[in-house]
Amino acid sequence: MEQKFIPYGKQKITEEDINSVVKVLRSDFITQGDKVPEFEQLICTSLDVQYATAVNSATSALHLACLVLGLAKGDILWTSPITFVASANCGRYCGAEIDFVDIEDKTGLVSIEMLKLKLEKAKQINKLPKIFIPVHLSGSSCDMRSIKRLSKEYGFRIIEDASHAIGGKYLKKPIGNCDFSDITIFSFHPVKIITSGEGGIMTTNNKLIDEKMKMLRSHGITKDIEKFKLPIPGPWAYEQQELGYNFRMTDIQASLVISQLNRLEENVHKRNTILDFYKESLKGLPIEFLEIPEDCYSACHLAIIKLVNFSRDFHKKFFENMRSLGIGVQLHYSPVHLQPYYRKYGFKEGDFPMAEKYAKTALSIPLFPDLTKDEQIRVINTIKKAIIT
Ligand SMILES: *Cc1c(COP(=O)(O)O)cnc(C)c1O
Repeated sequence: MEQKFIPYGKQKITEEDINSVVKVLRSDFITQGDKVPEFEQLICTSLDVQYATAVNSATSALHLACLVLGLAKGDILWTSPITFVASANCGRYCGAEIDFVDIEDKTGLVSIEMLKLKLEKAKQINKLPKIFIPVHLSGSSCDMRSIKRLSKEYGFRIIEDASHAIGGKYLKKPIGNCDFSDITIFSFHPVKIITSGEGGIMTTNNKLIDEKMKMLRSHGITKDIEKFKLPIPGPWAYEQQELGYNFRMTDIQASLVISQLNRLEENVHKRNTILDFYKESLKGLPIEFLEIPEDCYSACHLAIIKLVNFSRDFHKKFFENMRSLGIGVQLHYSPVHLQPYYRKYGFKEGDFPMAEKYAKTALSIPLFPDLTKDEQIRVINTIKKAIIT
């Protein structure tokens, strides 16, 4: 019998979610009503942060975050090579130069040792970054305390790419509270932890950053007469003060993600339970799970395993085997510096050895709240089968 293909990630949409979207569709406003501000307020409360601005994707949030922090041509942005391309592209949108900091083998997160070394070298040649974007791969926080300390020493700003990490904790506090960063961004793409279809949000404790973000997401326009630069011509007035974009989230999207937010805790708990079951069931095989740092409660966006002591050919073959047996494994991620676009800037194989080694051994196995026990067992049995063939 043909078995159903199990993807590595999948959204969960309930009747309640659907009803809340329908309610907005039947209302007077499907965008720029009260759902986006309501969502922003809920995020502030649940993440214990002062300000939040919702936008149409995490990519837009990263782009605006860079602009708000003043990134421009001649500046430098650093991030991890093991991330989605958007964490680097946001710097290119602003004309900045991109560079990467290699990862730590066991966690897949940015290596603080490498960051220190690179900062020291960069200081000597006057090429320090203006912005560093740590990426909370698979939902575990990077060592933000150390990164914050280094940011003070070397004078860079921090944007946390927490696209994988909503619902996760660092030092027992919610990721996104910006205790150790200027801005945190989250993604609500359907493969992420909670979804709005497409969507993202940025959080901050800095009022000026938030105000600028809100202006830039809507063409650079303000309707707040207190902030007008010119005399008020009449009650119809608004002012465009900067060159912004249309990066707004709609009320339709906000109503979906508000409903999803109600289940965030349960969702992340379920993900942790599944990951623990995998770890327990796959003990003794020549595979390793990415380590979750002790000071983290991971949001478990991804279940990433690494094949140990196999050749690169086997990694590829393992992928093919798993997929042909109906298990949608995926590589998160192919190193960004080796993408053709970034090779144009001179990056090449050998530049970030740990990231490259990771990409030759790692893969994500299915992990999402609706994954049934039977399906989890099928994933486990298929791994066991694929590892010996
Ligand atoms: C998904 C993702 C993004 C981009 O998110 P979108 O909402 O699709 O724009 C950025 N960074 C990381 C690490 C991601 O996983």
